Amino acid sequence: MTEVNGVSLPWGDAGLLRVHESIAEMLASRGDWRRAYEHLRIAFDLACAGSAAIPEQLRREVDRLRREQEQVREESLRDALTAVYNRRYLDRRLADLLSDARTPTAVALADIDLFKAVNDTFGHLVGDQVLRRVAALLREDLPANGFCARYGGEEFMLVLPGVSASAALCIAERARTRVAEHPWSAVCSGLAVTISVGIALDQGEGPRQLGEADRLLYAAKHGGRNRVAYREREAVRLIEYRP
Ligand code: GH3
Ligand code: MG
Ligand code: MG
Repeated sequence: MTEVNGVSLPWGDAGLLRVHESIAEMLASRGDWRRAYEHLRIAFDLACAGSAAIPEQLRREVDRLRREQEQVREESLRDALTAVYNRRYLDRRLADLLSDARTPTAVALADIDLFKAVNDTFGHLVGDQVLRRVAALLREDLPANGFCARYGGEEFMLVLPGVSASAALCIAERARTRVAEHPWSAVCSGLAVTISVGIALDQGEGPRQLGEADRLLYAAKHGGRNRVAYREREAVRLIEYRP
């Protein structure tokens, strides 16, 4: 008999050996070398021994570790404040999507308008709350395979693969409207929040398309904020704000 996490187990069995190897791999991937080594040692000993069924408790231990590992992986791709995807995920996915000419991808850069004034007037805690709400509003109504990521600070990116230019524009404009029409005064009396959006509809080489979204975002800002800017042939167009 041997002890694994307080459970007495019979020696042997190739299945049991694999379970210990699995646990060792998961622990090692988290840097828990000491416990990984213990499980690897047991697996090694089992390799020289007889047979036994995999005890239920050990199965549960493996399931629990697998779930924990999946959760850690998911958390490493999410922004801690807003829970949308983080920059690491965004960079990775964009590199794949924008190099795949078969699936045209539109990218929309959304920036909260005059957000510094929100912090200055209502405080950073309210500012953080605004960031969380805006992120939640941006996530609504995304197409299959579309996603929202925090680009940095008060800037978010909507990535819209496989939708037509007109559908992508509608998605961006609906997102802008949802933010503008959200009942912000329920969060804090006197608070109002809008976003400006630059949307690059034509898929190009990654940095070029991101640069285009950035230029269009500034066109939306200079056009009065609370607007979506896009390019039609050579001309920059603004979807005008209608109160
Ligand atoms: P514009 O309309 O031109 O975008 O003006 P702005 O005030 O939004 O832009 P600016 O770049 O001057 O200010 C952005 C502010 O966003 C400043 C920074 O303190 C704030 N900010 C960035 N990240 C966070 C965060 O995680 N929490 C809070 N509360 N504020 C943040
Ligand atoms: Mg900004
Ligand atoms: Mg801003």
